[in-house]
Amino acid sequence: MNSTAGAIAAIRKKSGDALCIMGHHYQNDTVIRHCDITGDSLELARRVPHISATRIVFCGVYFMGESATLLAGEGRTVHMPEPDADCLMSAMIPIRLARAVLEQLVRGGRRIVPLAYVNTSLAVKALTGEYGGAVCTSANAETMLDWALKRGEGVIFMPDKNLGHNVANRLGIPQDERHVLRIDGRGLIEPESQPLGRKILLWPGACSIHARFRPEFVEQARVEYPGCRVVAHPECRQEVIALCDAAGSTSFLIKEAARVAEDSPGSTLVIGTEENLVHRLAARHRDRCDIFPLSRAICPEMAKVTEEKLLAVLEDITGGRGEPLAVAGELFEPARLSLTRMLEVCGK
Ligand code: SF4
Repeated sequence: MNSTAGAIAAIRKKSGDALCIMGHHYQNDTVIRHCDITGDSLELARRVPHISATRIVFCGVYFMGESATLLAGEGRTVHMPEPDADCLMSAMIPIRLARAVLEQLVRGGRRIVPLAYVNTSLAVKALTGEYGGAVCTSANAETMLDWALKRGEGVIFMPDKNLGHNVANRLGIPQDERHVLRIDGRGLIEPESQPLGRKILLWPGACSIHARFRPEFVEQARVEYPGCRVVAHPECRQEVIALCDAAGSTSFLIKEAARVAEDSPGSTLVIGTEENLVHRLAARHRDRCDIFPLSRAICPEMAKVTEEKLLAVLEDITGGRGEPLAVAGELFEPARLSLTRMLEVCGK
C-alpha cells in the first residue's frame, strides 16, 4: 500500500460509520479499492437514501454527486474529490435549450412526457420533473420509456439518442415512430419541417466514449477471437448493438462476465464499454475466461478523480474545511421528483 492509500485507510478507520465513500464502476482501481459502495448510476442512486453516514464522498462525475445530494437524507452532506469532472454527454443538453425545445413541442397542446437519462444536469432533471416526466438509467430505461409512453402522446428522450434508439428497439417501436430532433442554439430548426408527431423524439446527444465503437470493431473481434461472445453498453450506436450477442447496463455487463466465467470456462468475452470496468472484470475472472475490451475507451472525465484527490477531500472534511455540494433551492423539489418517480416506478 502506498502512502496515499495508507493515509486514506487511516482516515476511513478513524471516521468509522460517519463516512461513506461511493464510487462508480468507471473509476480506476486505485480509487475503487477505497469505496464502501460501488455500483452503476442506478445502484448508487438506490443506495443513497439509506446511507446513515453524515459525510458521503462521491467518486464519479458531477451529475452523480448532484443526484446523491438530492437523495441523501437530512443532515447528510455530499462531497466530491473532483467537482470539475463533468459527463461530456450531460453537457450536450444546456438547460436553456432544453426548456426552449420542450416549450416548442408542447405549444400545440400535445402531451409530451420528458424522460431524462440520469446523465443530465440537475436543472434538466428539474425541468423534467416540472413537465411530469422522470429520470431513467440504462438499467431501467425500457421500464421507464414504457411508463412515459403510457402517460403521454409522445416522449422526448434526453440526451442520449443511441440509448433512446436501443431502448425503442427493445420495446419494438419501429424506426419510423422515432425522430432525432434537429436543434440549433435557439431551439428546434424549422419545426414545421420536422416529424414532431412521432412517438419518440430523441435529443441529438451521445456519449462520445461509447459512440466511438463502430460495427466493424465487432466484426474484427469475431475474427480475432473465434467463437467469442460480444456484449456492449446500450450507449453504443444501434448498428453496433445489432451485431452484439447481448447488450445491457453496466450491472448487466458485470453479471454477464460472472455468468460466462461460471458457465463457459476457457471462453472469450469481448465487452464494449468504458475500459476501467473491462480491465477489472478481466482481472476478476482471469482464472476462468478471457475478457477483452472491444476497443480503447477511457472516459477522461471519470479519470479526473484520483486517489490523491480522494485523500485531499477526506483531509478537508476531517479538518473542517470540506465544502459540500450545494443544490440550488428552487431546483431541489422538481429535480428530486423526477428521481423519486423513477425509484417508485422501478422499486426502491
Ligand atoms: S462514459 Fe460517457 S456517459 Fe459516462 S461519464 Fe463518461 S462521457 Fe458521460
